[in-house]
Amino acid sequence: MDHTFPRPRVLVSRCLGFEACRYDGAKLFSKVVTLLQDHVDFVDVCPEMEAGLGVPRPPVRLCFEKEKVEVWQPAKSRLVTTALVDAATRQVKNISECDGAILKSRSPSCALFDAKVYSGIEQPQFLRWESGVFGKMVLAYLGKKAVDDEQRLTNIILREHFLVKLYTWARFRSISAKPTIGELVNFHASHKLLFLAYNQSRFRVCGRITANHEKLPVADVFQFYETELGKILAKPFRRQSMVNTLYHAYGWISEKMSSEEKHYIISTFEEYRDERIPLQAATRLIEAQAIRFQREYLLSQHLLHPFPGELSDLSDSGKGREVG
Ligand code: SF4
Repeated sequence: MDHTFPRPRVLVSRCLGFEACRYDGAKLFSKVVTLLQDHVDFVDVCPEMEAGLGVPRPPVRLCFEKEKVEVWQPAKSRLVTTALVDAATRQVKNISECDGAILKSRSPSCALFDAKVYSGIEQPQFLRWESGVFGKMVLAYLGKKAVDDEQRLTNIILREHFLVKLYTWARFRSISAKPTIGELVNFHASHKLLFLAYNQSRFRVCGRITANHEKLPVADVFQFYETELGKILAKPFRRQSMVNTLYHAYGWISEKMSSEEKHYIISTFEEYRDERIPLQAATRLIEAQAIRFQREYLLSQHLLHPFPGELSDLSDSGKGREVG
């Protein structure tokens, strides 16, 4: 089968392989950024360079001072909050067309979840973790899209969830360029099995929006659908929900299968349930049977190919599960 994929736009921290712009003059390697580089259009940004802090530069840190979080550069004994907030504000204005973001973890500027906040300028004790200055704005502007940091994306579950979201949002952006109800109906129908695995009740809400019984303007329908799509994809699917969806797909192909074939495919689903094989092992079997019995409906489902196969990477750090 020939599968075509849109080319997502991904915001990325510039130091993750694009320029030696880190405070210490380093450029970092990120496996997920390298994996994606032939498949997406990256929009690389560095808020600290944009703020004119230079490279190399003394590091900055977040400090809780006088009831608010400030950005403090200890080596220069100066606050750079205003410069960094202004720079981040300028950069975030250009990201609305992005389908996702990969930002640098731990950075006081780019971190999404894990920038260190200290108790004050004078007594720099660790206080808590929170978003960096730019990371917080990215979550506010792009939060429902595929947004994560390079460290969490070393975890296979989070990475696959990220990729499913990234390509789903890219497909939605593509139909939103010339929005018609017909395109939205096709989008919704071809994501049915995938969305059922993610969130059944939200999938049905999207179905009602798509039906548009109230005869709302197309722009409003797309806006409502976009809001619900964000809720469908908010969290990774549960394995049990995916197993249920696999059995749902099985219903489309089982009729003419021999009992040995049925036994084999069901035992494959159960191996997936027991975390002994990846999801693709099960979906490939479904696809093979769908081709054999010419089940066009199944073959049109993005469940079988939610993102390009070349991006499947089974390596797993085990890290990142505890966040979010
Ligand atoms: S983490 Fe963000 S601010 Fe820091 S060097 Fe990388 S891109 Fe620049």
